[in-house]
Amino acid sequence: MSKRMILLGPPGAGKGTQAVIMADNAGIAHVASGDLFRKHLGVGTELGLIAKGYMEKGDLVPDDLTVRMVLERIREDDASEGYVLDGFPRTVGQATALDQALLELGQSIDKAPLIEVGKQELIRRLSGRWVCRGCQAPYHEIFNPPRKVGICDKCSSDIYQREDDKPEVIAARLDTYEAQTIPLIEYYQSQGKLIRINGEQEVEAVTTDLGNAISFNGSFS
Ligand code: AMP
Repeated sequence: MSKRMILLGPPGAGKGTQAVIMADNAGIAHVASGDLFRKHLGVGTELGLIAKGYMEKGDLVPDDLTVRMVLERIREDDASEGYVLDGFPRTVGQATALDQALLELGQSIDKAPLIEVGKQELIRRLSGRWVCRGCQAPYHEIFNPPRKVGICDKCSSDIYQREDDKPEVIAARLDTYEAQTIPLIEYYQSQGKLIRINGEQEVEAVTTDLGNAISFNGSFS
């Protein structure tokens, strides 16, 4: 049984889709740092304005700002039973800051599944990706289109292509992943928490593998 999880993997691996399913099945919070930044950006907070410059280039927002934002989020009530972190940590600095903060609370990360997908496939997925402006549900123009063009199936808000899913930024984001996030794999491996999952399968098969890996199928029992 595992209630504090980090979902690792490159942009486009399907972390968002799987994290929502895992969190729903387990009754824990889904905490996606990218969604939090996009929310700040949407309402025009100072953090949002700072983050915008980095996000548009496919660079990472500085660790101190990111860590503070995520730690605040996981202290909220809905995360008291646990959470799936999606897109965070993305650097070893963020991971050590998270471990330190959790240690002070007498907590720790239980498991860190890594969804693995090859680079060619990532580019193919990211290039056709669209996101709901309201609930952030992900779509793909070929593999997972909405029932009504441009409208979210779940909340009826409009769907849009993220600025950073445009071809010139995709390459930069994948480079950033290789340079800054891949060292995290070693970090969680050395803690015995890493579990590799084949992300080049149907969504349902990835969900099953993830469920098995974190020792629950549909619920914690
Ligand atoms: P995502 O939605 O996870 O692909 O994140 C979109 C963008 O938000 C990234 O390309 C970064 O610019 C920023 N971001 C999200 N999470 C982090 C993080 N943990 N550390 C730094 N920047 C982040």
